[in-house]
Amino acid sequence: MQKTTNKTPFLPKMYCSIFGHDYQVTKKVTYYVKEYTCSHCKKQLTTNSNGNLIELTPKFKEINAILERIHEKRIQRSKMKTITSSIY
Ligand SMILES: [Zn+2]
Repeated sequence: MQKTTNKTPFLPKMYCSIFGHDYQVTKKVTYYVKEYTCSHCKKQLTTNSNGNLIELTPKFKEINAILERIHEKRIQRSKMKTITSSIY
């Protein structure tokens, strides 16, 4: 039995070690913090508070989820402000 697949002959990780990771933004947490995933090996990165890219560990996922919630609230509040300021 031979399977016909269109997959690259490289293992994703091997591909990345040769050509480098191909990170794509998968999530915008705040204006400054984003989450990235490598399209080949699915390695995930995030921006930390210093603006450096670091590996997205479960702990950072948790932090980002909290940041996201705060960020959303802030946007909603600023929207409310513009609405009320346009009324008065
Ligand atoms: Zn990769």
